[in-house]
Amino acid sequence: MKLIKYCLILFILAHSGSLLAHVGEHSNTKSVIYTIMGKQVEGHFLMERDGKVFIEQKNGKIISADLNDFSFSNQTSLSKKIAFLKQINTENQIAKKLATHTKTTEYQFFYSLILVAALALLLMLRKQNPKVAYLLGSFMLFFYACKTNEAEPTNTTTNTTPTLSKTDPSFIEKVFSPYKSEVKTRFDDTYFYVETEGIPQTHNMMVGITSWQQQVPIPQGYTGSNAWSIPLKPEFAASPLSLKTNFMKGAVAIAPNGIPIFNPLNNRGEDAFVIGELDQWGGHCGRADDYHYHIAPLHFEATAGNNPIAMALDGFAIYGSKEPDGTTMKTLDEYHGHTYNTTYHYHAEMKYPYFMAAMRGKVSLDPSTPAPENQILPQAKSTGVRPALTALKGASITNFKATGTNAYSLEYTLDEKKAYVNYAWDSKGVYSFSFIGTDGKSTTTQYTKK
Ligand SMILES: [Zn+2]
Ligand SMILES: [Zn+2]
Repeated sequence: MKLIKYCLILFILAHSGSLLAHVGEHSNTKSVIYTIMGKQVEGHFLMERDGKVFIEQKNGKIISADLNDFSFSNQTSLSKKIAFLKQINTENQIAKKLATHTKTTEYQFFYSLILVAALALLLMLRKQNPKVAYLLGSFMLFFYACKTNEAEPTNTTTNTTPTLSKTDPSFIEKVFSPYKSEVKTRFDDTYFYVETEGIPQTHNMMVGITSWQQQVPIPQGYTGSNAWSIPLKPEFAASPLSLKTNFMKGAVAIAPNGIPIFNPLNNRGEDAFVIGELDQWGGHCGRADDYHYHIAPLHFEATAGNNPIAMALDGFAIYGSKEPDGTTMKTLDEYHGHTYNTTYHYHAEMKYPYFMAAMRGKVSLDPSTPAPENQILPQAKSTGVRPALTALKGASITNFKATGTNAYSLEYTLDEKKAYVNYAWDSKGVYSFSFIGTDGKSTTTQYTKK
């Protein structure tokens, strides 16, 4: 009999909670002030379905809104809640709460009621009919054991992030439209593709560089399957990766003329602009003679109007000094961006971090290039024609001009004397370089692009 008593106490303790929980569930839910499209709504979170969040207002009315329409801080807390609910798999129960009572909770309530009745019967029979009481007690213990054997869910939260709406390709189209003559665009369901040869047609290059690796711009063929890819369905990264310790290889954004924008820090971690590696337009050439920018090319503000001045490779836009509606830039977050009118974007300025402090969006990383050289995938490939050269100390680039179709002349000054790199290529991919040194002597070399 002592065993039965012990089991009964255990049973009552275990089930008192579920009985009380059912009664007190509503009163326990704290109401929160949510900001939806700028409007404040007081209520509590009910559920999320297909990106829509359902809020039960204080007056009992249920409203729903896109997760994106909530303020950024709401999105963060809501996405944590959603992740938690998905984890404990109670989504269905909460959904059914919209129709007052769920079958599940009714069943649980009924189940508890039967057990309480059985318990009362057991206590009554205890003295008059100990054998029946013993049998009933054993049965209840068995039933209880079966019930508690059901797997208990764990309350761990996951790093699920808010679902963002798909970017309208016509929005990205506007970014590149002023440069239609040198940029081709297309899109599918996943990416917006930008095709270019990689040589800017509307501004000069190279002039102003005082720390030069002797590279010059040649076409790169960022076309076809080697086009730049901008994700159309951006997602927030659970832990945005800092540009101080990541992405020192490859592009992180694309300018409106299809030229890639690299990390403001070069692959040695130095601010490329500050140390004179960049020309007057914020660009220079890499080891494959690939022209790219390292800072936000704010000169595109002149042609962008109220449109972004670049698109980041996480799918978020980069604006200049103004908001999309033409007003002055609002306060930025630690990643150098913010959610403005429900959409996240970065802003560019002429000081570090220039346009992006961390990659706010989720990106895929190239497993073959570990941090800090972890480049984003997909990434268009640049292809050179000659071995990479080394820094030419003391040289500054003083002129750069086209000398014909597919022909350029770069002038640099070293020890107050002028020197030149004249180069040209033909349709077969044969590149001819003529190097004229400060002593006036020239050497010529040819390379063929494979
Ligand atoms: Zn570079
Ligand atoms: Zn903004």
